[in-house]
Amino acid sequence: MAFRAVFLGPPGAGKGTQAARLVEDREPLHVSTGDMLREHKANGTELGKRAVEYMDHGKLVPDDLIIAMVEDRLSGGILAQGSWILDGFPRTLPQAEALDQSVGSALTHVIFFRVPQEALVERLSGRWTCSSCGAIWHEKFKPTTERGKCDACGGSLRQREDDRPEAVRKRLEVYTAQTEPLLDYYGEKGILTEVDANRSPEDVYSSLIQELSKE
Ligand code: AMP
Repeated sequence: MAFRAVFLGPPGAGKGTQAARLVEDREPLHVSTGDMLREHKANGTELGKRAVEYMDHGKLVPDDLIIAMVEDRLSGGILAQGSWILDGFPRTLPQAEALDQSVGSALTHVIFFRVPQEALVERLSGRWTCSSCGAIWHEKFKPTTERGKCDACGGSLRQREDDRPEAVRKRLEVYTAQTEPLLDYYGEKGILTEVDANRSPEDVYSSLIQELSKE
């Protein structure tokens, strides 16, 4: 099963969780623009410093910065063979057009993770991430044995700056205005498939594998 896929969906739809599972299981190359930006932020790079203002307020980082970062990551033809997933990119029409320019018809699937808006707020505001290993937990849906401590590595848990209520509202607004139009864009190209992501991670994962198995 080879796939070259974009994961599309609102913040909190479980794209990162499903991507982590797929990476463990099938070892595709995983490119997450959110993870890359958080790394830049943590390392205090020039890009990190410019991006942080947008990220912490739930806004999108400007297209030119993101497209340059992704093109740099994808340089050297790393997408030419094997399976890969792009998680959190593209998020705007100019980004989708830039991706078309670089990969063209190589893209096999665009998976839309559908979750109703009201479920997203609860998902995002209860989410905690391990500051050491990056594992994602949830105080209601996936609690750790000991509060504030990662079950996987013992690291301390922290809430993402942009999972705070104000930023969550902004991110959902931004998603509707700027990312949702991509559903039509990819729908017209005939490569869009939908997964009902308002279910347990296990059920979502089975549907995801089913979709990715289809040619
Ligand atoms: P994520 O982890 O994918 O939710 O991304 C976290 C934050 O990083 C977003 O709220 C944006 O501020 C920024 N970001 C990630 N990917 C993109 C992108 N493709 N375009 C613009 N900003 C992005």
